[in-house]
Amino acid sequence: MKSTTSNASQPFRSLSPAVMRASTVVFDSLADFARRKERQPDGYSYGITGTPTARELEHRIAELEGGAHCIVTPSGQSALMTTVMGFVRGGDHLLVSAACYGALKTFAQKWLAHFNVEVELYPPSIGADIEKYAKPNTRMICMESPGTVTMEVPDIPAVVEVAKRHGVMTMMDNTWASPLAFKPLEHGVDFCIEAATKFFGGHSDLLAGCISMNNAEYYAVLRETQSILGQQTSPDDCFLVMRGLETLKVRFEAQSTSTLKIAQALEQSPDVAQVLFPALPSDAGYAIWKRDFSGSGCLFSLILQEAGEDAFTAFFDSLKHFAIGASWGGVHSLAAYYPAPLQANRPFPLTDRPIIRLSIGLEDTNLLLDDLKGALDAFRRVRNARA
Ligand SMILES: *Cc1c(COP(=O)(O)O)cnc(C)c1O
Repeated sequence: MKSTTSNASQPFRSLSPAVMRASTVVFDSLADFARRKERQPDGYSYGITGTPTARELEHRIAELEGGAHCIVTPSGQSALMTTVMGFVRGGDHLLVSAACYGALKTFAQKWLAHFNVEVELYPPSIGADIEKYAKPNTRMICMESPGTVTMEVPDIPAVVEVAKRHGVMTMMDNTWASPLAFKPLEHGVDFCIEAATKFFGGHSDLLAGCISMNNAEYYAVLRETQSILGQQTSPDDCFLVMRGLETLKVRFEAQSTSTLKIAQALEQSPDVAQVLFPALPSDAGYAIWKRDFSGSGCLFSLILQEAGEDAFTAFFDSLKHFAIGASWGGVHSLAAYYPAPLQANRPFPLTDRPIIRLSIGLEDTNLLLDDLKGALDAFRRVRNARA
């Protein structure tokens, strides 16, 4: 009988990637150690730039995005910030959509502006008109489609065309569509950013981000930026994102189908003034969405009829299956609230009304619709009592 230890000499193979943890990477010789920086941007020299677990995730994401390189970061926000920090310097002009992710705008306006970066917000539904905002010192244009919360759809190919003519870099936050519905790199965008926290992870239990690109020099710059800013992503979280990616396509399809049904039903409700969702023909961004995107995901926003705060409170407090909370893209449905002043005070505002944002999970569609009907009933009762 063979001893069990002799089996250890056989190769181990499984279907799941290995989780390799390390701060220290060890070297064969002093000469190797002395040359360790030469191993970047792909190799291993210290835990900060990742172990084979991060590299495996980066390869899988790059393939999904149709890109040559990818860098994982500890959050979506860190991916956005790292991309800007890698290339924008004092004296540069930075263009940011007024509907970009809020923390990116705050970072640009509260931090970069103090480092003498000229930060300018532009109208979110822009296209070729971005040319009016270009200056000789414009370094980068930050885009998101559709816009965070308000869902405006820019004409990405038109913006990219202008940017290329002016030698300006472009980055796009593609979290809403994911590479399953839009591939920014194929449209000439330099950097594609995803909050892997959302659809990639898919289970509301981790934070991660990624930056995909084709240009090898940009990749080297961003690897250094990621490392110098001390942004390491835990191998355990990299593993969880890889597990999420295994089911991304089926989750995306199921959640998209359910979301479209719910958005269509809500559009018929007399309590709903507007559904902000580019996959609906009534949406201002529909034509560009239809031209450029192949899917519509699980996230949309609502503007209800004019009512007091107490009616919105009644809406949220009567929800049974939607959890109240930030973030989105997981298997559990979520509802979030964006108060009126936030909308009215935004540059190039879409509305001066409160916005409700819904992320549709994998629960039964009719159950979710009933939940929303109940919440709208509660909204209407309070609204009518006041009138
Ligand atoms: C959530 C989100 C981010 C930030 O991701 P975190 O991982 O939470 O930092 C960036 N962009 C968009 C569009 C998002 O929805």
